[in-house]
Amino acid sequence: MSNKSYFGGIADGLKTLATGMKITWKEYFTPKSTEQYPENRKTTLHVAKRHRGRLVMLRDENGAVKCTACTLCEKTCPNGTIKITSQMVTNEEGKKKRQLVDYRYDLGDCMFCQLCVNACNFGAIEFTNDFENSTFDRDALVLHLDKEEYKSSLPNLLEGGAPLTIGKFNTKTK
Ligand code: SF4
Ligand code: SF4
Repeated sequence: MSNKSYFGGIADGLKTLATGMKITWKEYFTPKSTEQYPENRKTTLHVAKRHRGRLVMLRDENGAVKCTACTLCEKTCPNGTIKITSQMVTNEEGKKKRQLVDYRYDLGDCMFCQLCVNACNFGAIEFTNDFENSTFDRDALVLHLDKEEYKSSLPNLLEGGAPLTIGKFNTKTK
């Protein structure tokens, strides 16, 4: 190895070190938003509305689920998280119609990719930011969305909780 390449290597090393340190110092002085969870879960916790916590089923003004059991979401899901059971019924006009019997969603398998929501043409499902889903029983993560009366785990959570304040340590308040 020549002296030139030896010192050239040292110069390159110092240059990359300086580049890295520049980013480190920049981030060090950038204001942060820190959530002291769970201490602040009922006080100053902020959770972005668009955070994908779990899937829920939407209902119309009469309280009926909007799902038509078309199975597009089930077919789109890459890992079989959704299982739809349906039956054919005859409506008042004598026409045959598919009716949802069960909408099974395994939260433990979900990758939160949102492909199912994007595939639905009826606006029947959506993600909420409700993220407190941990449990000791894996079976408890198997949900039947059409049967549940969904309530968020924390008040005001679905609206994002407390306002996000950049540069503030969001900790417990009395
Ligand atoms: S978010 Fe993705 S993984 Fe989860 S149910 Fe929808 S398509 Fe399947
Ligand atoms: S949620 Fe939407 S895509 Fe899935 S079965 Fe129901 S209507 Fe079809």
